[in-house]
Amino acid sequence: METLAQPVSSLSGIGSQSAIRLEKLGIRTIRDLLFHLPHRYQDRTKIYPIGSLSPGMAVLFCGTVEHTEVLMRGRHSLTSRISDQTGTITLRFFHFSAKQSLDLKTGALVSCFGEIRYGYQGLEIIHPEYKVISDTDNITETCLTPIYPLTEGLYQGTLRKAVKQAMSLYLQDTQLLTDWLPQEILQQYRYPSLSEALQTLHQPQQQITAEQLQQGNLPALKRLAFEELLAHHLILLTNKQAVKKWQAPVLKASKAQSKQFLCALPFQLTSAQNRVIEEIVADCQSNHPMLRLVQGDVGSGKTIVAAYAALLALSSKYQVAIMAPTELLAEQHNLNFRQWFKNDNAHIAYLTGQLKGKARKQTLTEIEDGTAHIIIGTHALFQESVNFHQLGLIIIDEQHRFGVHQRLALRKKGQTDSSRPHQLVMTATPIPRTLAMLQYSDLDISIIDELPPGRKPVLTRVIPAERREQIIEKISNWTAEKNQTYWVCTLIEESEVLQCEAAEKTAEYLTQALPNVRVALVHGRMKASEKDSIMQGFKNHDYDLLVATTVIEVGVDVPNASLMIIENPERLGLSQLHQLRGRVGRGQQESYCLLMYQNPLSNMGKHRLSILRESSDGFVIAEKDLELRGPGDVMGTRQTGLMQLKIANLERDTALLEQVQQAASIICKQYPNAVQPIIDRWLGQTTLYSEV
Ligand code: ADP
Ligand code: MG
Repeated sequence: METLAQPVSSLSGIGSQSAIRLEKLGIRTIRDLLFHLPHRYQDRTKIYPIGSLSPGMAVLFCGTVEHTEVLMRGRHSLTSRISDQTGTITLRFFHFSAKQSLDLKTGALVSCFGEIRYGYQGLEIIHPEYKVISDTDNITETCLTPIYPLTEGLYQGTLRKAVKQAMSLYLQDTQLLTDWLPQEILQQYRYPSLSEALQTLHQPQQQITAEQLQQGNLPALKRLAFEELLAHHLILLTNKQAVKKWQAPVLKASKAQSKQFLCALPFQLTSAQNRVIEEIVADCQSNHPMLRLVQGDVGSGKTIVAAYAALLALSSKYQVAIMAPTELLAEQHNLNFRQWFKNDNAHIAYLTGQLKGKARKQTLTEIEDGTAHIIIGTHALFQESVNFHQLGLIIIDEQHRFGVHQRLALRKKGQTDSSRPHQLVMTATPIPRTLAMLQYSDLDISIIDELPPGRKPVLTRVIPAERREQIIEKISNWTAEKNQTYWVCTLIEESEVLQCEAAEKTAEYLTQALPNVRVALVHGRMKASEKDSIMQGFKNHDYDLLVATTVIEVGVDVPNASLMIIENPERLGLSQLHQLRGRVGRGQQESYCLLMYQNPLSNMGKHRLSILRESSDGFVIAEKDLELRGPGDVMGTRQTGLMQLKIANLERDTALLEQVQQAASIICKQYPNAVQPIIDRWLGQTTLYSEV
């Protein structure tokens, strides 16, 4: 077997126990060890004079014992004062043996390593590593000491020794690990070779500081992070090519069908909608699967574009599945599609997790025997038990609510030996271009960059919570003018329970404060049927004020609602706020969004909210959000978490993404043989993304 492919247990010092523990870190082979990088370093390369020490430093120093004693008051401890020509420091041990107090006898020379802190008697160090020495020769290390991420039961020393062996095997013959990055790319970005990079990080000769690591501007680290991100990008590009090789049904509508459908709509399509529809029509006419992402700001009218795509499938006698991230949204699509397709003799089936028993069975049968043409639902659509008769098109709405892996997994639904359904993905969360490449490189992108006519931008105001009374009065006037209002309660996303409780309290409070206003409440812990009936009631104007949690973030469409109050907007990402705000401004009247923040608000917080006040362009807002808060907020932590990056860190390495894209195109064109090995090196046998 190839040297680096040997199991870690072939190294000395790694027994079966350690091997099991290493496996928990994803380390099986010697090669894996090479890519297990230190997360920080200790400096044992020089001896610090005691007089130069200050709290927080973790360093090596030497000194002579002046006095050692066991203190009996309070917690028993052994203290030893040691000094050199420059100063004095106390070593303190709470756990100690009799032998230790003998070793540390007056006059002994010791070397110590540990973190310095302030104690009762000036500088001290608790439980230092120490050694009694005869002289100060040979006590320093030649390079920084790497500290590796560990797992329970695994010792730093064990891991360090194992990596050392792995490195020396590798350095004997660096050809064992091919450097797949072409020379021209290394030169362009001034990156070290793979072997140099690994050596710098595992056995740093130079000084590497914690800051350098954190900021990611160490060329060795940058190069590896770059290569890892490149692998993620390349696999999506490769997937795209692989999918395009499949067959897909040709979907098209006749002129008459198309005309009948469009004429029945209560509005004319915008030119952006028409352009995107043309792109979809062209894709669906080809006999290879469409893989298209439609990005369009909230309210830009993506649903009707999706419906048109559904018409193509319907007219060609294929089924279409439409998946929405929430029941609320699925239900809304269900209602809209029934309206839009009422002249087409289309049988629409509706399937969510709530559907149980007989009704569910019936729906499943309809889907399987082809009675159902358009199938609308939540992710329940893609459970094992759902079998499609002849699925020609999959539409995924608000894709940002699903992970990239989930999306890829769906492609296999409706797949036959050689053919796959077309896929249309829609999102209102504009992903900055740089991040899009890690999420959407496998897709062609269409953008609806125009809002339906007559929309006025939502006037956004940033208001402190102290002015709550005034706001409540405004709701009262608003209601008198027959307009409707949303009141959104936000809390830290993790705590849905608390968020729902807060919404309940707020609803109670507002009901009392506003006797002439019909108040309703909707939150995530209500039954789907309850939520639906409330939403429907709000749409019918049975209620004037809807108190809601962020469940209304996606898709809900009530044109008469033109005022939105968002409590504690500082807790949410800008893109999410923009998305929420998109619920208003859908009708003819002037609309308002009041961001009611809690004082004190940091300058950064103020700045963020002001961006929302000044811009109504989701793309601009997403770019700013990325700049200010990093990709976690923009992509959703769920997605960044799922990427499982080993070395790269999206927060830190955003700047690399531009390079990655350039490099990928060079590699795909000029070095196609490197593509798969780069993917394999970083993503290995992982099935997360794997397509076939
Ligand atoms: P989103 O892109 O956020 O999903 P929707 O598809 O829900 O937006 O559309 C928002 C609203 O705009 C809906 O009420 C829809 O009927 C309406 N709409 C869509 N296209 C047009 C258009 N071309 N002209 C007027 N109204 C439109
Ligand atoms: Mg929508």
